[in-house]
Amino acid sequence: MNSTTGDELKSWWMPFTHNRYFKDQPRLIASGAGAYYTLVDGRRVFDGLSGLWCSPLGHSHPHVVAAVQRQVATLDFCPSFQMGHPAAFSLARRIARLAGRPDDRVFFVNSGSEAVDTAMKIAVAYHRARGEASRTRIIGRERAYHGVGMGGISVGGIPANRKMFSSLMIPGVDHLPHTWDPARMGYSRGQPDWGAHLADELERLVTLHDASNIAAVIVEPMQGSTGVLVPPRGYLQRLRQICDRHGILLIFDEVITGFGRLGTAFAADYFGVRPDLLTFAKAVNNAVVPLGGVLVAASIHDAFMAGPAHMIEFFHGYTYSGHPLAVAAAHATLDELDGGGLIRRAAALAPVLESAMHGLRGTPLVTDIRNLGLAAAIDVTPVPGQPGLRAIQVFQRCLDDGLLLRFTGETLALAPPFIATDVEIRSAVDTLRRALVATAA
Ligand code: PLP
Repeated sequence: MNSTTGDELKSWWMPFTHNRYFKDQPRLIASGAGAYYTLVDGRRVFDGLSGLWCSPLGHSHPHVVAAVQRQVATLDFCPSFQMGHPAAFSLARRIARLAGRPDDRVFFVNSGSEAVDTAMKIAVAYHRARGEASRTRIIGRERAYHGVGMGGISVGGIPANRKMFSSLMIPGVDHLPHTWDPARMGYSRGQPDWGAHLADELERLVTLHDASNIAAVIVEPMQGSTGVLVPPRGYLQRLRQICDRHGILLIFDEVITGFGRLGTAFAADYFGVRPDLLTFAKAVNNAVVPLGGVLVAASIHDAFMAGPAHMIEFFHGYTYSGHPLAVAAAHATLDELDGGGLIRRAAALAPVLESAMHGLRGTPLVTDIRNLGLAAAIDVTPVPGQPGLRAIQVFQRCLDDGLLLRFTGETLALAPPFIATDVEIRSAVDTLRRALVATAA
């Protein structure tokens, strides 16, 4: 299938990849255009996961390509420590406005992991700046994915991402229970009705530690990487109320949900819950150049603005924060997502995906189906004694049949680009159905 083989594949130790299996059966992409990738053997595959949840405009979008090309020829890099370039400021303003929080500030980073670690640092430093230095504990959630920084794996809740690194975890972290219970919410369309009470676990942790020791709670409003775990109705609202009652900051990790995945600019809009800090990355610039950030409530930002004006207020940042190419790609992406109506299009496509995916109920191997916005997942029956193998088998059949989706554990997820058509989405789900039937046979 591929021209790159053996020795040529040896040197790159690939991230989150079964390296030996992959290098034995490499899957190599040569190019991307629109909603399709072309593999090195010339086959076209539908990009059913928008890259890694990050390319809602599809690939090589002409408006984004032109913006990045112009930018690299004009200003290829600009230091952002004590200097700046105009487009980064206008992008921050644009993102705050898109979020309906025009007074918020935006701290730019280069990835979701950095956004999470940055938000955690802001939360802890904020309480200290206000004279509540004992508020250091951070509460995450089981099954959460918050990237791979030391902060992110500490508040994250995916066992495999944590178990090798327990000595590196930051201290003072607790986890809320995850919200998925197949017996009570299996095959839910959109938000399950059961489970809002699971937010009350936060009250238990407050009683245990005392609120005066707790800085923040961080959750993905919809848990994406662990397999599209949709929050029960009322759950996030209840978390917000408990945080308010105890002066705890609420952080939404919107690295997957930000910029339209649920058919609204942010999941915060979809659920009508306003977090104090919101992390983003991925779709902000269609993933064309690494970019992430943290949206910070004005009151939090303002607490840092003490002391002499010539002093640095927050000792944190990255060489590439606000990188001109990433910023140019983001402006062009937002032109399409917002101005071009693609977020509305994601909302319009969501019912198409929901109905196609739930049509898989009863297909061999399928044990659950979940969806929200333009994201959906199924769980499959494991191969006895070989966890994870079944999903790989289904994934491989899909790929052979022209569909790229994502597998993790026993879960297969679909999150098509917003430019996809109804027909393409239904056809992708048909491909998945064929793969399930063939794998089960
Ligand atoms: N947070 C969430 C919710 C994510 O889904 C991800 C990546 O999928 C991250 C953080 C980490 O982002 P990155 O891989 O850009 O570091």
